[in-house]
Amino acid sequence: MPECVFCAIAAGEAAATRVLETARTVAFRDINPQAPSHVLVIPKAHHRDVAALAEVDGGLLAEVLAQAHAVAQADGIARTGYRVVFNTGNHAGQTVPHVHAHVLGGKRMGWPPWPPA
Ligand code: AMP
Ligand code: ZN
Repeated sequence: MPECVFCAIAAGEAAATRVLETARTVAFRDINPQAPSHVLVIPKAHHRDVAALAEVDGGLLAEVLAQAHAVAQADGIARTGYRVVFNTGNHAGQTVPHVHAHVLGGKRMGWPPWPPA
């Protein structure tokens, strides 16, 4: 089993509720949903965060974003609207160091998404 939990999910070695899959990406439901629809889209290849992925494979990053929209369509939130979030690094509160797009929708979300300081 890979040390990285999202690599393990990508390899089918850890359980996840999969929504969509392509040759280079997987989408699965967040285990601790913050909205009625909360799906994570990852590249199967391990990259630390969206900055690292953008530096080495912008095409794969575009695939992740295209899948985020495909997830929104599959979950029926594309018309009402949704949010795509890449937490990146410490100040953003990134907890899993394998790049993932959060796709959130199904309710009206506040702005800003963090409590005022
Ligand atoms: P972040 O804080 O942006 O790194 O988000 C990591 C997200 O991954 C959190 O929303 C977690 O609930 C979610 N998560 C962690 N482990 C799993 C897992 N095994 N399956 C599904 N979601 C997970
Ligand atoms: Zn990984």
